[in-house]
Amino acid sequence: MAFESLTDRLAGVFKKLRGHGKLSEADIKAAMREVRMALLEADVNYKVAKDFCAKVSERAMGQEVMESLTPAQQVVKIVNEELTALMGGEEAARVQLKSKGQTVLMLCGLQGNGKTTHAAKLAKYYIKQGHHPLLVACDIYRPAAIEQLKVVGGQAGAPVFVLEGEKPPVIAQKALSYARDRGYDIVILDTAGRLQIDDVLMQELVQIKERVEVDETLLVVDAMAGQDAVNVARTFHEKVGIDGIILTKTDGDTRGGAALSVLAVTGKPIKFQGVGEKLDDLEVFHPARMASRILG
Ligand code: GDP
Repeated sequence: MAFESLTDRLAGVFKKLRGHGKLSEADIKAAMREVRMALLEADVNYKVAKDFCAKVSERAMGQEVMESLTPAQQVVKIVNEELTALMGGEEAARVQLKSKGQTVLMLCGLQGNGKTTHAAKLAKYYIKQGHHPLLVACDIYRPAAIEQLKVVGGQAGAPVFVLEGEKPPVIAQKALSYARDRGYDIVILDTAGRLQIDDVLMQELVQIKERVEVDETLLVVDAMAGQDAVNVARTFHEKVGIDGIILTKTDGDTRGGAALSVLAVTGKPIKFQGVGEKLDDLEVFHPARMASRILG
């Protein structure tokens, strides 16, 4: 199960703390060293883990905690709050839909991370809310990708816009006029992925954004990739500009690193998470819930 080892490690640290009764600064320091180790083992970015522990230490060494009757419990509470803050705070970051006209969402990411599946998941999510999304096949290089989008789009109940013989920026532009004419209010662009980051891919995404007004660029990253996912996010943000992240496969054997580091490293929040292969397996990402889940 996801986060299991991080959860176990943190539980071990807190158990030890509870055994101390009143806490000394040395107890807290020792505990924070262990928390830091646990975070690093969970593939959390080094600086993120270090800053996190510094913040928790500072708060934990305050009078309120040291003089409290249940200091260990207070430390757990602080860790919970700081984990929540690290992932974006109490309020979930949401995709903003326009009240009028078309909201254009561009999904990008590396191949195999779940982009096409999540385009369809998003379509289904919005259909359930009474919206009329249009899926757009901008991955023209792999015929299989277009076929896959048609299949999952069909399952989601969303039409798929396909235009042969044109480049993705033109496809996006024509899809937007098509959506305007037919009253689709959300346009979801499924763009091409590559096995690794390359300039041609990045350029194409930039060109799409130059041609149509993209309201949100959402990067689809696989949670199981840990810090690699965070590095991919950083590069996409630098080269293309992203507004948020869809963290996929959080149902898998992820260690937590990506979920915990990506906002701190890129400044962009996780907005949705994929929790399974089915089209209904999409959730708004709630930092507080994720923090509680990590703490077990
Ligand atoms: P793309 O190449 O980025 O478009 O990736 P796909 O959408 O084709 O997904 C790659 C694989 O990941 C497929 O087998 C999906 O079923 C699977 N997948 C996508 N999202 C999730 C998820 O949230 N959880 C799990 N377990 N599998 C997922």
